[in-house]
Amino acid sequence: KAAVEKIRWRISLQLRNQQQAWQESVEGKRMLEFRHTLPVYKERDAILSAISQNQIIFVSGETGCGKTTQIPQFILESEIDSVRGATCSIICTQPRRISAISVSERVATERGEQLGESVGYKVRLEGVKGRDTHLLFCTTGVLLRRLLVDRNLRGISHIIVDEIHERGMNEDFLLIILRDLLPHRPELKLILMSATLDAELFSSYFGGAPLIRIPGFTYPVQTYFLENILEMTGYRLTPSNQVDDYGSEKIWKMNKNAPGKRKSQISSVVDDVLSAADFNEYSHQTQESLRCWNPDYIGFSLIEHLLCQICEREKPGAILVFMTGWDDISSLRERLQAHPILGDTTRVLLLACHSSMASSEQKLIFEKPDNGVRKIILATNIAETSITIDDVVYVIDCGKAKETSYDALNNTPCLLPSWISKVSVRQRRGRAGRVQPGECFHMYPRCVYNAFVDFQLPEILRTPLQSLCLQIKSLQLGNISEFLAKALQSPELLAVQNAIEHLKIIGALDKFENLTALGRYLIKLPLEPKLGKMLIIGAIFHCLDPILTIVAGLSVRDPFLSPMDKKDLADAAKAQFSVDQSDHLAIFRAYEGWKIAEMDQAGYDYCWKNFISVQSMKAIDSLRREFLSLLKDIGLVDSDLTSNNVWSYDMDLVRAIICYGLYPGICSVVPNDKSFTLKTMEDGKVLLNSNSVNSKESTMAYPWLIFNEKIKVNSIFVRDSTAISDSALLLFGGNITRGDSDGHLQMLGGYLEFFMEPSVAGMFLTVRRELDEVIQS
Ligand code: ADP
Ligand code: MG
Repeated sequence: KAAVEKIRWRISLQLRNQQQAWQESVEGKRMLEFRHTLPVYKERDAILSAISQNQIIFVSGETGCGKTTQIPQFILESEIDSVRGATCSIICTQPRRISAISVSERVATERGEQLGESVGYKVRLEGVKGRDTHLLFCTTGVLLRRLLVDRNLRGISHIIVDEIHERGMNEDFLLIILRDLLPHRPELKLILMSATLDAELFSSYFGGAPLIRIPGFTYPVQTYFLENILEMTGYRLTPSNQVDDYGSEKIWKMNKNAPGKRKSQISSVVDDVLSAADFNEYSHQTQESLRCWNPDYIGFSLIEHLLCQICEREKPGAILVFMTGWDDISSLRERLQAHPILGDTTRVLLLACHSSMASSEQKLIFEKPDNGVRKIILATNIAETSITIDDVVYVIDCGKAKETSYDALNNTPCLLPSWISKVSVRQRRGRAGRVQPGECFHMYPRCVYNAFVDFQLPEILRTPLQSLCLQIKSLQLGNISEFLAKALQSPELLAVQNAIEHLKIIGALDKFENLTALGRYLIKLPLEPKLGKMLIIGAIFHCLDPILTIVAGLSVRDPFLSPMDKKDLADAAKAQFSVDQSDHLAIFRAYEGWKIAEMDQAGYDYCWKNFISVQSMKAIDSLRREFLSLLKDIGLVDSDLTSNNVWSYDMDLVRAIICYGLYPGICSVVPNDKSFTLKTMEDGKVLLNSNSVNSKESTMAYPWLIFNEKIKVNSIFVRDSTAISDSALLLFGGNITRGDSDGHLQMLGGYLEFFMEPSVAGMFLTVRRELDEVIQS
């Protein structure tokens, strides 16, 4: 023991000498000078002494004040200075992988080191970490996974949970676990950091832990809303401006909100809203009409126009554009690249910033462009708080972000663009005033802004809880409902019960709420459980290829475009893919066609001719690769994939696997004189979504439709459906792990109003039982 201590001490001394040498070098001094300018530096001593006197502290400060890059470093430096370098182990969690990577690189640079020396990072499937790494930036998910093998987090001396104001599901979940763990680990320190903090809520949750506020500073930011922008630029929102995008289908989607309105009426709605002093005056049902005021009204052309004006007339400074999501970013980027001024790479450096970008791309974001070159960054809300780009002077804010929401009563989840909160608007605006006075352009009228909510609801209250429930089980945290009752804000009991019930039905939990074999695999896939299940079963039944495409296709936006003025042509094009009475197989066929066209570099033409979104095809392609590497990781596919695809072209089997995944989303097809009606057990009559290939059919080849999602608007609509045969439903529907086979047969029997001869039923039952055994093992 003494010998080990001695070695540790020697390493600690060495670390201290290295640190001092760097701090005294020319480069190191320059770096320190920069660090001293950050507002957080003034609080260094206060923070360190609060940590030494308390087990938990909070730190809050404006974005960019230096929390993420400095505070973990303060701790590391002070440990190294007091010759404890070799014994400390500091973990700092980030909600997103890209910020974990970029921050760790930055901190290593500030310490004059390579990544993997004293500083490292770890995100899913990727990481750089050495033997002497004492400060590790990781995603919250990585720390949660570490808990699987090390429940007490032995060996960790400090945990820093960053961005807790975002109230992400993982962070809220981690806080419950840590709050329970801290009494058992008295020497473990917890530091909670956030941009804007609801201090009372957090503090009382942690028994009144002290809060250190870092005074912030930003330059004034001139703010414009849509009405000002239109006036300033002399731009008119006319219908022709709205429909000239290749992505113009979005403009027309709005027609669903304002049914029957033609182009000219649309622009008069726009005028009405713009001139309304108060949005509530314009419409009484605020939420409804917020949905009705669609930022897509303005299309990309106004953004392009505005960007041009800034580039041509305004003083230097980078422009940060907040877009709704990755698909919007890539469509806008394609459009700008084709523009004579904005696409000129000698004048404009056009970059994208979103959570799935490559790290080489990431570095460019922080670099200063050459003189005379304007940097334009198209970003998702990741640039709101987790990443700070110093030279931004102009911000353009589209006002929306992709957000998951969940309605426990209807048990229906969705991932939809929705309006951001007023807090987010302030954050976005603040990004413009970091280095000098800035300007911010909000692409929506002020009256719409007034109707925004103040705060975003925490994720745990607005998303389905199935994946979280699986995680609680895998970490052996006890009864799910009791555990979730300890959250900062607990989800509704009904939402928890729905999630548990669903997990039982799909066979991820048994009737005692214990994880099944399937459940243990599902935890390893960051997908909705039913989609994860479809992938797993697809791999096991050797028809992986189509299932990869279908699961990827369900995770991106509808690839089939339908511009209103060319609706007939688009419908005709889609009909080629719609031969199977299945939306899922239509996506599969469209993607297969694209793949073949891509081999001759004709992918773009193919999409154009067939009214298919290029972006969706590319997104499916990259998701497929991601899913495949996950399946390889958990050992479900071979390296050469041949055996996993033996049955890939048996469409009956593919259909059955879709049924396996999506069950219990099933409705029966009841024929009538002219066509058919659809019924589910719970809701009675339901309708098909109008873009479903099945909405064009007058008869169905099979008595059942399996569907991905149901959504309540006025009636209940089912989205993405596939026709399913009796035998597929009998063999592949239902609970695959419930032991009680009689109960199981009854359940299916209830669905199948007519039933087959007992002897045939018995045979099915035997096959079914064997199938269940295969899956369970
Ligand atoms: P906070 O976490 O409080 O929002 P950060 O610690 O992320 O602030 O950033 C503090 C400052 O460090 C930024 O304002 C910026 O000047 C600088 N910085 C952060 N990351 C980088 C980077 N990758 N490259 C260059 N400078 C950076
Ligand atoms: Mg930060």
